[in-house]
Amino acid sequence: MLDNAGIQALVLFGPPGSGKGTQAKLLKECLGIPHISTGDMLRAHIQAGDPMGQAVAGVMRSGALVDDESVNALVEERLKAPDAAKGFILDGYPRTRHQAEQLIQWLEAQGIGELVIHLLVDYNSVIKRLTGRRQCPVCGTLYNLNSKPPKQDGICDLDGNKLVIRDDDSAAVIKQRLEAYEQQTRPLIEYFREKGRRLLEFDASSEPPQILVGKICQAIRDEARV
Ligand code: ADP
Repeated sequence: MLDNAGIQALVLFGPPGSGKGTQAKLLKECLGIPHISTGDMLRAHIQAGDPMGQAVAGVMRSGALVDDESVNALVEERLKAPDAAKGFILDGYPRTRHQAEQLIQWLEAQGIGELVIHLLVDYNSVIKRLTGRRQCPVCGTLYNLNSKPPKQDGICDLDGNKLVIRDDDSAAVIKQRLEAYEQQTRPLIEYFREKGRRLLEFDASSEPPQILVGKICQAIRDEARV
C-alpha cells in the first residue's frame, strides 16, 4: 500500500497522549513495516542501564526533551537496519526543528517519500488518557483505565504480567511534557507546511483506535491516487 502511494515513511505527529503509540502499533500490523518509537528506544537504554540510558534518565523523568544530538544519532542508526528498508513508522520523532531538518535531509538524500499524520486531540482528553494509562512491561501492550481496561485489575490480558505506570505519567510531569510539546514540537506543523511536506490531520479525540486506523489507511490509499 505504501509503495503505491510513493510513501515509505509515516510520521505520526501529535501531543503526548494523542494515541501515536497505539496507532503506530495498529499500522504496523496492517502495513507490515516497523514501528520506530524514540520514547521506547530511550526507555530501552534506561532499562539496560547503559551510558546513553544513564545520560537521559533524569531528563525523561522530568518530562523535558532529550538532546537532539543523542536522538538524531539513535534514529539515524535505527533507520539503517534492514527491516526499515521497505518503509517505517516514526512515532515521537521529529520533535524539534533541528530533528525535523535532519529527518527531511535524510529522507531526501535517500529518495524516500513521507507522509505526516497529525493526530488532533484536546488537552482535557490528553490528561485523562495519560493519567489512566497502564502498560505491560514485558509485551508492551497499552491499556487505559477509562477506555481499554484489562480484564483483571492491574494484570496484562496477554501474558499475565503486572501492569505498570510509566515514570513520566504523573500529573506534574504530564504538564511539563505538554509544555515541551507546545513550545518545541507543535511549531513543526508550520515548518512541514512551509516545506511543502505531505500532511494529513485526523480528529483523534472521539473515535476508537480501530476506527481511526481504518481512516488513516484509507487516506494513505487515497494519497496513491493524487
Ligand atoms: P509521549 O509522546 O507520550 O510523551 P514518548 O514515549 O514519545 O511519549 O516520549 C517520552 C519521553 O522520551 C519524552 O518526554 C522525552 O523526554 C523523550 N523523547 C522521546 N522522543 C524524543 C525526541 N524525538 N526528542 C527528544 N526527546 C524525546
